[in-house]
Formats: sequence, C-alpha cells, structure tokens
Amino acid sequence: MAILKVARLGHPVIRKPSVSVPKETITSPEIQRLIDNMIETMREYDGVGIAAPQVHESKQLAVIEVTENRRYPGEGPIPLTILVNPKILSTSKKLVEDWEGCLSVNEFRGRVPRAESLEVEAYNRKGEKVRLQARGFFARIIQHECDHLAGKVFLDRMPNLQSLTHLQEFIRYQQEQ
Ligand code: ZN
Repeated sequence: MAILKVARLGHPVIRKPSVSVPKETITSPEIQRLIDNMIETMREYDGVGIAAPQVHESKQLAVIEVTENRRYPGEGPIPLTILVNPKILSTSKKLVEDWEGCLSVNEFRGRVPRAESLEVEAYNRKGEKVRLQARGFFARIIQHECDHLAGKVFLDRMPNLQSLTHLQEFIRYQQEQ
C-alpha cells in the first residue's frame, strides 16, 4: 500500500467531472490497489472520506470512514465504506448546516447546508450493487464526496463565504466554545 499525493484546489483534476468505473474492472488488481491506497491516504491525513480525483484519479470512486478523528472530534464512528459509481437516489427536503473541511481545501472550514438524510446506490469493492440509507454526518460526507466526483468542492455549496475560517481560528473560536 502507498500514501498518495493529495491534489489541492487549483489542480484541474479537482474541477473535472470524473468517469464511471466499468463494473467488470472493479475487482481488477488496479482498482483494488487504488481503493487500498485511498484508504491508507485518508487515514494518514485524518480525513473522514476521500474521492479518487483528490488523488489525481478522475474516477467515480470514494472511500469513507470515521473512527476517533482528530480533525472531527465527537463525530462517528462510521464503518469503512467504499462507493464505486455512487448515485444519490433521493435526499430529504430538510437541510442541516454544519462545518466542513476538505483535504483539497486544507486549513479551511466553512458552514455548508446539506440534506439531513439520503439514499445512495453504488457498487462496493466486490462489484456488488448496494443501497445505503444515511443521515447526519454520514449523509453529509456522502454528499461531499459525490460533489468531488462531479468536480465540485464544499465552497461551491456555501450560501456565502461569511463563515469561511482558517483551521487554527476555527479551533480557537468555534471548537473551544
Ligand atoms: Zn473534500
């Protein structure tokens, strides 16, 4: 396994809509290795999810996991989830606003409204079609990662930039209150 270099905002791959993974290639050594490397990269950088474009692979693939996380204390746990070619089938009308960060927009946090719950369909790493219902922080991460696959970042989802905050100031003025 290997820790991959993370693409940051400004690298064209972050803004490029990614291509779906052919179903028959999901179990190939190449895709399985990419999944393993994405998991290792997410854990190394204390992410709660990472999408393939963030590791310079323009593919419809994301991994999510929340354990005890230094970047997001008090959230989780969410078991390791692999989403290949995810499609959000439905979302709740109810929106919830909360803080988000991103390994590609590092050192910033901002408040983003997201659907409180959703249903998503995807392939897992064995190439099986799965449907997941998610709410709260899990639903938020799924929306954040699916945005990456469409070339969007959380900044695009902020109603305005008033809440945009450097991470140090976030810790000082938001988290400690
Ligand atoms: Zn992100």
